[in-house]
Amino acid sequence: MGEAITVTRIAVVGAGLSGLVVARLLQSHADVTVFEKSRSAGGRMATRYAGEFEFDHGAQFFTARSERFRRFLQPLIDAGVVANWQARFAEYDSSRLSTRHAWGDEYPHYVGTPRMNSIGKLLSADLDIVFDAEITAIARGRDGWVLSAGAGAETEPFDWLVMASPAAQTAALAEGFANLSAFCGERRMLGCFALMLGFEKPIELPWDAALVRNADISWISVNSSKPARGSAVSLLVHSTNSWADAHLEDDTNCVLEHMLNEASRVTGEDLRSASHRQVHRWRYANIDRQSGPTCFIDDANRLAACGDWCVRGRIEAAFTSASDLAESLIARL
Ligand SMILES: Cc1cc2nc3c(=O)[nH]c(=O)nc-3n(C[C@H](O)[C@H](O)[C@H](O)COP(=O)(O)OP(=O)(O)OC[C@H]3O[C@@H](n4cnc5c(N)ncnc54)[C@H](O)[C@@H]3O)c2cc1C
Repeated sequence: MGEAITVTRIAVVGAGLSGLVVARLLQSHADVTVFEKSRSAGGRMATRYAGEFEFDHGAQFFTARSERFRRFLQPLIDAGVVANWQARFAEYDSSRLSTRHAWGDEYPHYVGTPRMNSIGKLLSADLDIVFDAEITAIARGRDGWVLSAGAGAETEPFDWLVMASPAAQTAALAEGFANLSAFCGERRMLGCFALMLGFEKPIELPWDAALVRNADISWISVNSSKPARGSAVSLLVHSTNSWADAHLEDDTNCVLEHMLNEASRVTGEDLRSASHRQVHRWRYANIDRQSGPTCFIDDANRLAACGDWCVRGRIEAAFTSASDLAESLIARL
């Protein structure tokens, strides 16, 4: 008969959706502490503020294919933190507008309301989270896992460690743990640049969201057209992953100029009238669909990992990975 495992103290690294979901599902079974390097929760479900302008500069919207994810979302919809974005949608082939139709009710395109980061805020409310705590080293000693949170500060020991940070950041900490290193090493995340444009006057575009093919940008949305947003007109442009990966270390101004020109060329509008212009670099934005397990568990070391990168670069994938991991860990309690 195997040794009974008593899970009492669990550390989770990362307060993006996957970290928040795994922590919430585990918290009635264990003492869970989440460590997050930034000042707030939500990870890539992020919002950037610039005066009167707001930009969801990471994830744009999400769909819910599984019944399990729809059940999870219902209380967030009821609380007014998630809503269906019924955008006027378009597709461009380079600068040719090829399709236009409205997104309807039959297949909701959800967004956080009034901002994408509202979801992380709500999900983190009743969790034990240490913010501004970048984990810089992990070590497994006789009493369990001890984490270093910068400047030599060490945590109390934990029985289990759950990594809920992107693959490369997880790999950097997991160097001494061959199984997790190998699992991360098989998954390569892709970069993306986000261009944020704020306008003093309304701009005339015949759509709210546009997918772009055959250009260096892949997506443009009128951020301010999402439900419950303010009236200041904001536009969000994403580069393609391949263009970002080829230009990740370029000067930010050069990236901004190129994306601004490309967005103007594609739409046929002079977007240089924007009074606010800013670029954000996402080094680990996205990942193609993965085969293999949806999460990672190393029972011998009591080490686990989850995140979108185990499945594919989608919000629902982050949820799936975290839920599968939580179910597997609960079964071990
Ligand atoms: C530009 C862009 C566009 C996207 N568009 C869409 C879309 O339209 N639809 C969709 O479904 N998905 C989209 N995604 C993907 C979606 O955002 C992710 O799939 C999802 O948010 C991932 O959640 P996660 O919890 O796995 O990871 P993350 O959200 O990345 O969370 C990881 C957390 O770990 C923290 N962290 C990292 N290292 C450490 C450390 N050492 N110590 C402490 N904390 C650490 C980070 O700060 C972060 O908060 C997009 C992402 C980007 C960047």
